Amino acid sequence: MQTGPTATVHLGNIVANWRLLADRAAPGEAGAVVKADAYGHGGERVSAALARAGCRTFFVAYAKEGAAVRRAVGAEADIYVFNGTGNHTLVEDLTPVINSAAELKAWLETGRPYALHVDTGMNRLGLPWREAGGLADSFTDHPPRLLLSHFACADEPDHTFNETQRERFAALSARLPHEATSLANTAAHWLGAPFHGDVTRPGIGLYGGGTSPLRDERLLPGMTLEAPILSVFDAPAGDTVGYGATAILSGDTPRRLATVALGYSDGFLRSASNSGSACLGATRCAILGRVSMDLITIDVTAAGGLAKPGAKVEFIGASVGLETQAAAAGTLGYELVSGLGHRVERIYRT
Ligand SMILES: *Cc1c(COP(=O)(O)O)cnc(C)c1O
Repeated sequence: MQTGPTATVHLGNIVANWRLLADRAAPGEAGAVVKADAYGHGGERVSAALARAGCRTFFVAYAKEGAAVRRAVGAEADIYVFNGTGNHTLVEDLTPVINSAAELKAWLETGRPYALHVDTGMNRLGLPWREAGGLADSFTDHPPRLLLSHFACADEPDHTFNETQRERFAALSARLPHEATSLANTAAHWLGAPFHGDVTRPGIGLYGGGTSPLRDERLLPGMTLEAPILSVFDAPAGDTVGYGATAILSGDTPRRLATVALGYSDGFLRSASNSGSACLGATRCAILGRVSMDLITIDVTAAGGLAKPGAKVEFIGASVGLETQAAAAGTLGYELVSGLGHRVERIYRT
């Protein structure tokens, strides 16, 4: 019997989401961002499934992540490492994303392939766009495979900064030698072809998340996070629930409560206290009181006979949308799924 939380990873859904985004990226090619253990879904299993579906370009943050992806996808795929030239990069046959002039100079001496990230205004990582143009002559003989940049506001389609970054990138890509361009994260897939580049970099959309108002409603959940009920009991009106006694049971009649095996040590955010919810069957059950380290109490009054020890309650999935749950915790789906801990058992379905 499973006595702790589980994340059932829907590999078939992730592949379907990738195909949907690949349609959008056409005539460009859709890659896949599988950093942070494929946003908590399992980097090797997700990469292998996407490679079988035809994905040829993968992106990770660290060389160590890239090495695991390499084992999963075989020798043919390109694997780019966002965070620059780590010491594993050469050994593991990964392609670094170069982020500064100094890094570029050193890497050019290796004669090995690379990608070049130009920062078009986000001021986070990458060669600043104001400097990049001046370096063109230094790599004419050895152009990057990918010239890439990243949008700050792609999930806000009306934000004028999208067009500012696109224009800066277009001007740079006209001057800088390169084999191909890469521009779009998930949300930019819905901004139109000029915002895509030759190879796109969808992450959160593969896993069914994302907050763009243009988001395709056909995207399917990448995982179902469930926790089993440990105990069911009645509590009278006026009682309180959990640490700090922050939830007070209102009304005149007793409430039926259930406590489940899931907590903030599993990565389920404490900020969902008194605001998140779960589903037992078709019944929406509010989280009552604070999320504890290993336990959460929910209101199962309306769930009838379904509420019994061992029954599974959904916290992320087809019934409780990832972004709905994340918003209740004051965050984004990115943080919620990528933060799920090792104690959450991953179960893979095709
Ligand atoms: C994480 C990341 C992505 C993926 O972004 P999503 O919003 O998850 O699609 C793309 N590009 C870069 C540089 C990233 O760091």
